[in-house]
Amino acid sequence: MSKILITDAIHDDAIEILKNVGDVEIATGLTPEELKEKIKDADAIVIRSGTKLTKDIIDAAEKLKVIARAGVGVDNVDLQAATEKGIIVVNSPDASSISVAELTIGFMLSAARNIPQATASLKRGEWDRKSFKGVELYGKTLGIVGLGRIGQQVAKRAKAFGMNIVGYDPYIPAEVAKNMGIKLMDVNELCQVSDFITLHVPLTPKTKHIISKEQISLMKKNAIIVNCARGGLIDEEALYEALKDKKIRSAALDVFEQEPPKDNPLLELDNVIGTPHQGASTVEAQKSAGTIVAEQVVKILKGEPAENVVNLPMLPMEKMSKLKPYMILAEKIGNMIIQLLDKSIEKVELTYMGELAKEDTEMIKRSFLMGILSPILLAGVNLINAPTIAKNRNIKIVEGTVSESDYGNAIKIIAKGKTEEISIVGSLTDGRPVLREINGYKVDIKPEGIICVIKHIDRPGMIGKVGLLLGDCGVNIAGMQVGRKEPGGESIMVLNVDHMIPDDVIEKLKKLENIKDAKVIDL
Ligand code: NAD
Repeated sequence: MSKILITDAIHDDAIEILKNVGDVEIATGLTPEELKEKIKDADAIVIRSGTKLTKDIIDAAEKLKVIARAGVGVDNVDLQAATEKGIIVVNSPDASSISVAELTIGFMLSAARNIPQATASLKRGEWDRKSFKGVELYGKTLGIVGLGRIGQQVAKRAKAFGMNIVGYDPYIPAEVAKNMGIKLMDVNELCQVSDFITLHVPLTPKTKHIISKEQISLMKKNAIIVNCARGGLIDEEALYEALKDKKIRSAALDVFEQEPPKDNPLLELDNVIGTPHQGASTVEAQKSAGTIVAEQVVKILKGEPAENVVNLPMLPMEKMSKLKPYMILAEKIGNMIIQLLDKSIEKVELTYMGELAKEDTEMIKRSFLMGILSPILLAGVNLINAPTIAKNRNIKIVEGTVSESDYGNAIKIIAKGKTEEISIVGSLTDGRPVLREINGYKVDIKPEGIICVIKHIDRPGMIGKVGLLLGDCGVNIAGMQVGRKEPGGESIMVLNVDHMIPDDVIEKLKKLENIKDAKVIDL
C-alpha cells in the first residue's frame, strides 16, 4: 500500500478518496524535523498553505512521487527541488472560482438593494422602507476588470440578470471577449459607462491602484464598486473620499489593503458593505480544493496522467538538461515580450536556429507560452496547460527552423499584437540566456532584473540626457547599451537599473526631446 501523508487540514471527502488507494496518515502542526522524518517513506503528501516543503525536506523523501497542494499558490513548495527529484507537483487553481463569482453577484445585489443595512435597521426594531430604496441589476451595465477564471464566471451569471457587460483586459483578444458577449474597452471608459464595476485581476505592480482617484472621478454618481479580488487594486483613500461625499453610490469589499483592516475609515461609512476575505470560504470551494488534488494523487499513484501538474519532471533527465537552458531563455523572452507589448498577442512566430533546428522543440515553445502568460494570470499556468490557455486566448503559433545563424544555437521570436510587433533573438553564453537582438537592433543583454527599453532618435547627447534625468530621480543605472541600424536613425537604449522605475519617471523620460517611447520591465 502507498503511504499518503496529509499535513494540513483538508476536506473529509478528499481523505476518503485517498483512503481508497493508500494508508493515510494525518499529522498537522509538524516541526520541519518531524516532517523530514514522516516524509521519508511517504509516496504522496497533501498540503495546503501551512506546510513548507523546502529543498532539505524534499531531499529527505525517499519514495515521494507526488506533492499535492490543495488550493492555488505553490510558493510554499520548492518546485526546482521537486522537479530535480522527479516528484510531480499538482494543485487545484479552479476550486474557488465559482464561490468568488457568486460572492460578487451577492455583493452586487446586496449593495443594489441595501440588504445588509436594511437587515441591521430591522433588527434595531425599525420599519424604514424609504431609506433603503434600491436599484435593479436588470438593464444596467456591468464593467468587469479582468476576464480570467472568475471574471468570466461573473459575466455568465450577470447575463442571466439581463445586464450589459463591458470588460477591461488588455490580454484578451476582442474576438474572445465578443464570443462571451463582452465589449472590451479601456479601464477609464469602463468606469465612465458602468453602473456596477467589479475587479478580477491579480495584484501586480501594473494593477496596484488600477482604480484610483482618476478612475473614480469618471464613475457615474450611482456607480457601485465591488472588489472580491485583492486589496491594493483600489486606492482606499480615494474610494473613501468619493463614498463619503456620495460621488458614487456604494462599495462592497471582500478584500482590503491591510487585512484584517485596522482603523479603516471605509468601514465607518453606511454605503460600504463587506466581508472578511471570504470569497473562497464555501463548503464547496474547500471541498473541491481537496477533492480535486486527491483525485490527481490517485491518478499519479496509479501511473495515469493528471491535469493540474505544476512542474514537468517526466522528461528524461538527459534531454531535460540539454533543453533546460533554452527553455529558460524562451520563458525570459516571453516575459519580456508581454511586458513590452502590454496588449493581447494575436500571433507568435518561433524560429529555432543552428543545431536547435534538429531538436524536439516542443518544450521550448511551451516555456515561451508560459513566459507570456504567467505575468498576467494569477496562477496555474504550467508547461502542460500553457498551449491550451494560449489557444483559448486565440494566440496563433507558427514554428520554423533555420540551420544558419549569426549567434550559433539561437531562438528568434516575433510576437504580433493588433497594431504592434516585437521581435527578440536570444542565445546562450556559458549556458546562460543572452539577448542578441531586439526589434532588429543588435544588443548583448542578460535578461534578468529590471530593464528599461527606450526608443529614441540617434542624436548627440541622448545618453547623457537620459542618464541625467534618471540620476536626478534617484535611479541608479547598472549597465547601458545602445543599438542602432544607421547613424541618425531610430535607435534603442537598453538600461539595467537597480530598482523599479516609478511611472512618473517613465512619463518624464517619454517627454524628453527625441525619445519615442520608454518601458520598464521586471524579469
Ligand atoms: P486569472 O489568472 O484566471 O485571471 C486574471 C485575469 O486578469 C486574466 O484574464 C488576465 O489577462 C487579466 N489581467 C492581468 N493583468 C491585467 C491588467 N493589468 N489589466 C487588466 N486585466 C489584467 O485569475 P482568477 O482566478 O480569475 O482570480 C482573479 C482575482 O481573484 C485574483 O486577484 C485573485 O487573487 C482573487 N481571488 C480572490 C479570492 C477571495 O477569497 N476573495 C479567492 C480566489 C481568487
